[in-house]
Amino acid sequence: MSKDIKEKFALADISLTDVQIEKMETMIGFLTEYNKNVNLTAITDREGIIEKHLLDSALPLKLYSLKENAVCLDIGTGAGFPAIPMMICRPDLKFVLLDARRKRTDYLKLLLPELGVCAQEIIHGRAEEVGRSAKYKGRFDMITARAVSDIATLLRYAAPMLKKGGVFMAMRGAKDELDGEVKKTAERLSLSLDREIVYNLPGGDGRRLILFVKTSYSNPKKV
Ligand code: SAM
Repeated sequence: MSKDIKEKFALADISLTDVQIEKMETMIGFLTEYNKNVNLTAITDREGIIEKHLLDSALPLKLYSLKENAVCLDIGTGAGFPAIPMMICRPDLKFVLLDARRKRTDYLKLLLPELGVCAQEIIHGRAEEVGRSAKYKGRFDMITARAVSDIATLLRYAAPMLKKGGVFMAMRGAKDELDGEVKKTAERLSLSLDREIVYNLPGGDGRRLILFVKTSYSNPKKV
């Protein structure tokens, strides 16, 4: 049965071990069951979950080379995307999972022990509030956000929490191009646009990965 997971990832040149495949399988089963009572995702077919959640989440780590043991935050993680597939593929990464909706963080607290995967922390809260806490200032090597809010807003949330040299990774649909306003906001927050990568999932859906790097420790008070 799990052959389809292995094959789908292989199409994106990602080779999974048997243990990783088993964890992906557990994620599919858990998500499918839980989603019957609590709305976590509109994608409910097995092939869709494999391609549009699991592979879509893991693929950016093929496109951006993240250092070992990086400390990461996933803003608006929902049912754990992209963080959990990234953690399965890269067990060295130390993720904090953040979502504003309690039913989603409750789900993650049940899922992680099933997977045998450890997060540094699961936070029920809003990124704009968490970002103001001294505990998270300049803490992260990478901050991800997939399908959350507009990019300028996300940059404001993420900037104070990134280390110097840390990267903010926005995962969007291919058509979601950056406008001049976003670039100006980034500059004011000491974030420099590192690269934009447009690519397709094996099934043809277009994706855009946008990477900003934090160039200085200073954070303007208001942007
Ligand atoms: N990233 C997941 C994915 O790709 O499947 C979930 C995407 S879902 C469309 C957006 C998620 O962001 C929701 O779970 C929502 O609760 C969360 N969210 C929106 N604004 C947020 C904020 N300011 N702080 C934390 N979470 C937020």
